[in-house]
Amino acid sequence: MSVRVRFAPSPTGQVHIGNIRAAIFNWLFARHEGGKFLLRIEDTDRERSTPEAVKTVLDAMSWLGLDYDEEPLYQSTRQKAHMEAAEQLLKSGHAYKEDKGGTGKGECIVFRMPGEDMMFSDVIKGDLRKSAKDMSDFVIVRSDGTPTFHLANVLDDIEMKITHIIRGDDHVENTFRHIALFRSLQADVPKYGHLPMIINQQGKPYSKRDGAAFVGEFREKGYLASALFNYLTLLGWSPGDDREKLTRDELISSFTLDRVKSGPAQMDIRKLTHLNAQYIAELPIDQFCKVARDVVVRMNWGVNVEEALFIKVCKLMQSRTHTFSAVEDWKYFFSDNIAYDEKSVKKTIAKEGVKSILILLKERLAEIDFSEGTIEKVIRGVEKENGIGEGKLNQPIRVAVTGVSIGAGIYETMVLLGKNRTLAKLEYVINNLCI
Ligand code: GLU
Repeated sequence: MSVRVRFAPSPTGQVHIGNIRAAIFNWLFARHEGGKFLLRIEDTDRERSTPEAVKTVLDAMSWLGLDYDEEPLYQSTRQKAHMEAAEQLLKSGHAYKEDKGGTGKGECIVFRMPGEDMMFSDVIKGDLRKSAKDMSDFVIVRSDGTPTFHLANVLDDIEMKITHIIRGDDHVENTFRHIALFRSLQADVPKYGHLPMIINQQGKPYSKRDGAAFVGEFREKGYLASALFNYLTLLGWSPGDDREKLTRDELISSFTLDRVKSGPAQMDIRKLTHLNAQYIAELPIDQFCKVARDVVVRMNWGVNVEEALFIKVCKLMQSRTHTFSAVEDWKYFFSDNIAYDEKSVKKTIAKEGVKSILILLKERLAEIDFSEGTIEKVIRGVEKENGIGEGKLNQPIRVAVTGVSIGAGIYETMVLLGKNRTLAKLEYVINNLCI
């Protein structure tokens, strides 16, 4: 029997990393097994499932390269089939009508649990059991005539001939009900695998309060799809050795469900960022420039970011870029009008004695042709003349010409800024920020 799995998101406007991780695991499993990865949009909540919300899901999937087989199934198109099945369950005695709460508002259809203890072998968590007394009957059609999640979910899995259901472990309780539904509809029960919960540093379910939690946020913050994809595979799975950085092909070939862990998986943004930096460092320069350029366009600095200089800046900055949001701070390369970080200015420039040193430095720099070597020589000379330790001027100069206290090597940076821009910035700092 060939594997058929699916991703069944309920479009709500944002795609949580826990959901997209489920999609990734299903995708990898299907690709590893040579099976099919299907998409079902669970859009029965008409208020939340707007076309934009659906588009957000599709965009997240295509950004991460989660291509699906066959046409996606929109659950909202299946209402008739859902109702027919409910009628069938009424006829076979597996369901009954009830006026819940006796409000006279109408009857709903309730599924009758079989009244016996249940057990299923979860491919990730092992045997899971529940006794009959802990499982009560549940609504499958609301009094307004709409099917509930349980009924629609099971019927559509039957329709799509799903062989394995891999989903978050918040669904374990539902699975007992769903298995009972499959049986009463005389359908083969698929295999179930419940993925471990993603938790924060405190061991609680990871949520947006813990930082970025949605795919779109990671994208905006400058993470690469390849890095996020790779990182999410490590949340609850491992290749069985100490590899952490794996290509997509390596992931496909090593992905098996028996390596999915049953214990919770802790989200670690620093680890993701570290992996992201490695992926960024490996990008061909033209691709790096392309993504960085998108950030520049979005920032809309109102200055001309000339391509030849931009490529030089990219080459200088690529190996130090951990996320593409770092590009937001590159304005100083292209503009005389930059923002100065107040704290850095206080620590380095707005200090007794700095002004006269910067004046001297500016005079000396005005006399040379800019290269890393000549710039370094001038700075060392100024340090010596003023009895300042070697290298001690680097940081004040960095803040003076870039406005911030981190960046690439200061000599390389000054070469790219060029003589005119460097002198203009020093002039501004001397007149406005020094004391
Ligand atoms: N729409 C459900 C969810 O997103 C689907 C669960 C399932 O995969 O069966 O939680």
